[in-house]
Amino acid sequence: MNGQLTIVGLGPGPKDWITPAATEAVAGADIVLGYAPYVNRLTPRVGQVLESSDNREELARAERALELAASGRRVAVVSGGDPGVFAMAAAVYEAVEKNPASADGVDIRVEPGVTAMLAAAARIGAPLGHDFCAISLSDNLKSWATIEKRLRLAAEADFVIALYNPASKARPQQISQAFDILRRVLPDETIVVFARAVGRPDEEIDVTTLAGAGDMACDMRTLVMVGSQATRKVTSGDGRAWVYTPRSERVR
Ligand code: SAH
Repeated sequence: MNGQLTIVGLGPGPKDWITPAATEAVAGADIVLGYAPYVNRLTPRVGQVLESSDNREELARAERALELAASGRRVAVVSGGDPGVFAMAAAVYEAVEKNPASADGVDIRVEPGVTAMLAAAARIGAPLGHDFCAISLSDNLKSWATIEKRLRLAAEADFVIALYNPASKARPQQISQAFDILRRVLPDETIVVFARAVGRPDEEIDVTTLAGAGDMACDMRTLVMVGSQATRKVTSGDGRAWVYTPRSERVR
């Protein structure tokens, strides 16, 4: 083997949500590459180089990482959450597919992390207790027509739907278009959760319904979760509430 390339998941934010294996992979790297907000979370050890780039440059970053690893370096590429969920691991394999020889002799590994939808779910109860899916609302890499179709069919199939990349400055209106599509299929009282900056100091979780969802603020650090028709609130005797989806579709 020439070198090592590990694509590492840093989890949604807090240090204690990073696996020991991920921490080890970052500590053992000569050079760490990634999108600036993720790289900025790290403290370099002596002799270690941190290199951040823009989030639109994922393929270029993957190619550079492969190049550095092939030259014998130990390279870590970091992603927030899990590196395989709408993140860098797929970009690395795209680079390998484009130029198979670039991976020759490189020990490529993926170190998983807690993805945003799991962190958000843990905060509110157990909304992913039954079947679910995840859809990115970003149309950088796919058409809006594809997104519309997937939203409609996911709602028809009655999945709990985790929406990643729900909005950005460039496309603030898409989340309301997504809710319009979902409203054609799902009842107004369907539970919708807005989980903002989960695990960060400014974390904010709001539980609403599909009828009220259009009024909620939402940005690139928000994970939106749309319940299935079985997703509901459950309340303790002393008045605390959670959101969960029963394990069995027979519990209605
Ligand atoms: N690889 C990441 C996802 C990258 S896509 C993961 O596994 O979590 C970026 C999107 O993830 C954001 O737009 C947002 O929808 C979601 N996200 C990432 N971190 C988050 C956090 N701490 N709180 C809420 N949503 C988050």
